[in-house]
Amino acid sequence: MMINEAKRLGIPILFNAVVDDYFENQHEAGVKLRNGETLTADLVIAADGTHSKSGKLVHNNTVHATPSGFSVYRTCYPAEIALADPLVKARWGPGHNAGQEVFQFYLGPDSHANVLFGKGTCCWSLFHRDTSDTSDENWSAHLNPEDAIAEFDKIGGWDPALMALVRTTPRGGVNDHRMMWRDPQPVQTSPLGRVAQIGDACHTFLPTSANGAVQAMEDGASLAACLRLGGKDRITLSTRVHALLRFERVSSAQLMGFMTRQTLHHADWEVIKNDSMKVRRGPGAWIGGHDVEQYAIDNFEAAALHITDGTPFANTNLPKNYTYKPWNIQTLNKEMESPDFTVSEILMDQAD
Ligand SMILES: Cc1cc2nc3c(=O)[nH]c(=O)nc-3n(C[C@H](O)[C@H](O)[C@H](O)COP(=O)(O)OP(=O)(O)OC[C@H]3O[C@@H](n4cnc5c(N)ncnc54)[C@H](O)[C@@H]3O)c2cc1C
Repeated sequence: MMINEAKRLGIPILFNAVVDDYFENQHEAGVKLRNGETLTADLVIAADGTHSKSGKLVHNNTVHATPSGFSVYRTCYPAEIALADPLVKARWGPGHNAGQEVFQFYLGPDSHANVLFGKGTCCWSLFHRDTSDTSDENWSAHLNPEDAIAEFDKIGGWDPALMALVRTTPRGGVNDHRMMWRDPQPVQTSPLGRVAQIGDACHTFLPTSANGAVQAMEDGASLAACLRLGGKDRITLSTRVHALLRFERVSSAQLMGFMTRQTLHHADWEVIKNDSMKVRRGPGAWIGGHDVEQYAIDNFEAAALHITDGTPFANTNLPKNYTYKPWNIQTLNKEMESPDFTVSEILMDQAD
């Protein structure tokens, strides 16, 4: 859809073009491609994901990846392989959830597992404390089911059907992706404002936020609206307004991933027995009900005045009753280890 729309608007698209470097001056910005070509424009939007090369120009590579302490065994393979096992067939096979898409999760101490049966495929995952044996920030799947089973066994007490499912996994088909963490990054534009980062390039998420793509798309809509409102004369101001409108919201959505993980990994069964909503997953209306483009339209000028003249400005795209507080993984890990720590219900938007 996006390619068709770009073509309709006459926007050229260049495939197989690897960016090696970004640059800017007062009048333009550009990228140097691996094939030796240089491209320039009024503005460069760096949407090149977790290992973005734009970090050098935007924040001098000062945002570092640190282990979050957790890792995820993951795999996905044809459902018919899994359903050949009688225990798996009895739980997820025809007659039970035939033809339906199924998502289930299991809670364990400091861990949780997911099972997904889609049309023709099955996936399972296990979130666990990371280990130097198998965990790596790498998508290559080369591990065997036994590697994951060893971790399941360390935790113990899992549903036999889940364990039967794990045993059906094809050899060499499991990945153990170490969850690296990059602290919230308020600086998302280059010093002269002509290179703007969006998406994973400036904010990565834990999978328990389920929001990386959501926030990447919101960034795109917000930046587009700001550039349209600012016009060609205010490009660098518009990129800064966009960053101001986005940072606290995105950082709160990132924090939500830690809160969800805490809810799942430290389940209080007495509470859940009485109110299963207490272990619900997924963000509330502050995420799903937000109109990011309208928000930019409504707040652009006030945010711009804040940047140029220092007039007060407060974002309203956060969870209800939540006052943004800067945070980083060090302080959060300490807080979460305290026996007094309680998960922020506000971020989960329980009341909404
Ligand atoms: C297993 C998994 C489950 C997820 N589940 C969810 C979910 O449920 N909900 C959700 O919202 N999000 C989810 N996400 C997160 C989501 O996929 C990412 O946050 C999202 O893809 C980020 O989009 P992006 O466009 O910023 O970056 P990317 O999708 O990473 O795109 C970056 C692009 O830039 C290209 N690129 C990189 N470097 C260069 C270079 N030097 N030159 C040229 N091109 C380059 C890459 O090839 C890539 O195409 C999940 C992610 C994973 C891995």
